[in-house]
Amino acid sequence: MCHRLISRICRENGELRNGHYLSQEGELEQFTEHADMIIGENLPILMQQPLKVKSHCWFAFRHSAEVLFVEKIKVRGIVIREYEAGESDKRLTVFCKEHGRLMVYARGARKPTSKFLSVAQMFTYADFVLTKGRGFYSLAQADIIESFYPLREDYDRLMAAYQVAEVCEKTLWDNLESDKLLLLLLRALSVLVKGDLPPTQISSVFLLRFFDVFGLRPQAEACVICNAGVESGAFLCAEGLVCRSHKPARSILMSAGAVSALRFALDSELKESFFFAASDNVIVELTKAALLLWESHFEWKLKSL
Ligand SMILES: [Zn+2]
Repeated sequence: MCHRLISRICRENGELRNGHYLSQEGELEQFTEHADMIIGENLPILMQQPLKVKSHCWFAFRHSAEVLFVEKIKVRGIVIREYEAGESDKRLTVFCKEHGRLMVYARGARKPTSKFLSVAQMFTYADFVLTKGRGFYSLAQADIIESFYPLREDYDRLMAAYQVAEVCEKTLWDNLESDKLLLLLLRALSVLVKGDLPPTQISSVFLLRFFDVFGLRPQAEACVICNAGVESGAFLCAEGLVCRSHKPARSILMSAGAVSALRFALDSELKESFFFAASDNVIVELTKAALLLWESHFEWKLKSL
């Protein structure tokens, strides 16, 4: 019934209000059920012809005799992967506050004249307006908060940024909130943009804290096996630090400086966690530690390594 009535409204270019439709008599009546969401291949074309709609929640479109209803959401998030699609489109993976990972289709985003040209880029942090489809969202509008553009000016910083984005992209679930990880990612990118610290130091701290957020925090206080102190150096395995007497088969040696840096990275406040002075050797040890932990817990290798 709703379809037929709203088809009539489409033809007359009438108004559709939030949760209401116009009856045949022209009176405003409330929706009693959600209209079926019908998403077709040509939806983005239809979106170019929206009705005059006051609602923030619903749009109606006419295609042949059918009316399509599309739910519209506002999210704040950051692009963590982009793919080319079609002749001039992009598919984006967006890591969103409160929503986790969302797949977003940005129609025409590769055209030089597209309004999405600067938005549909890696590391763009923005407020997005999305229309919901079946299995994906379409980008309708966006306001950039931070583009993290300076990352592109330095190869090593850019590679570190790709690595932290890839960790998120690989481990997130669609539509599952992971705001702690989002904060960690934004913090890591902000520190990378400043360029004060070695990029591998930042990506290693990110990875170590990622394990904490993910519930895989390595034990850094004492030997995992005998609880002996490890201040003078130790081995690191998937579960954490192990004293020199209990060297596990799959482990790496950590100097006293690396043990201190590991503890600082894990235990300090997020805003401070990247900022410590470390020798090149200690940063190499931290990087190896982060990679050992990654390879111990996840089957796939990070492409960006
Ligand atoms: Zn021990």
